[in-house]
Amino acid sequence: MERSVCWNITCKCNENCKFCFRFTDNNVLSFKENKIILDNLIKLNAKKITWTGGECLLYPHLFDLMKLSHEAGIENILISNAVLLDKDKILEIEDFVDYITFSIDSTNSKVNEKMGRGANHYKHIKELMDFIRAKTNIKLRVNSLVSKMNLEDFEKLARVIDKYDVERWKLFKFTPLRGKAIETDQLFDITDQEYLEATSIAQKHAPNTRVVICINTNLEDDYLLINPSGDFIVTKDQKDEKICNYKNIDLGKLEGILRQ
Ligand code: SF4
Repeated sequence: MERSVCWNITCKCNENCKFCFRFTDNNVLSFKENKIILDNLIKLNAKKITWTGGECLLYPHLFDLMKLSHEAGIENILISNAVLLDKDKILEIEDFVDYITFSIDSTNSKVNEKMGRGANHYKHIKELMDFIRAKTNIKLRVNSLVSKMNLEDFEKLARVIDKYDVERWKLFKFTPLRGKAIETDQLFDITDQEYLEATSIAQKHAPNTRVVICINTNLEDDYLLINPSGDFIVTKDQKDEKICNYKNIDLGKLEGILRQ
């Protein structure tokens, strides 16, 4: 199975989620530096790139890179918190974005506020999803973090997701992997049993949706990560292992990791 390339192109973000485990201490590379990375991903014959951050829309050259990867036949998957997305921006990116993945953890504005996403988070994304479905060919995906905060609302969330023609609904168990999530562990942590119960609720109440249940080992094994400094990383046993940097790319080693 091929790993997905997950490119954390900036660590900057315009939301303040209390469970965030993004990279926090990295620089941001110039377009020229990131183009070196993209050229090597093209050489590696990567099939798709998941663009994320932080909030990747805060990186000024994101669309230039995405256009180039699209021209090279790579599928572009944009993960966004949607703060900077509106209808005009969706139409602007439609030609080179294949999928947009939104994070929806709850339909309840109070829960979203408590989690740090902001009270309007769900309402805004719902409007965007309605527009994308009606006016574009971009496929939709949803990611949800399952934690102590949103367990009670999970059935309602499942019913709502099932009404949308999402290509995939991916569930993650809260993991204090890095960053802020390590400090807020107590607020969000759930047992494996509670996570399993939430995933059963999701499958039962979203029968028309492809639900993907992610456990830590999937989270770690499925991805080749690139951080904002251009380090290529794999994660094992909740530890990040650096493979190489964009200044000394080891194509043979990366090829082995991508297709192991
Ligand atoms: S979880 Fe995502 S949207 Fe929230 S602060 Fe972290 S990077 Fe930003």
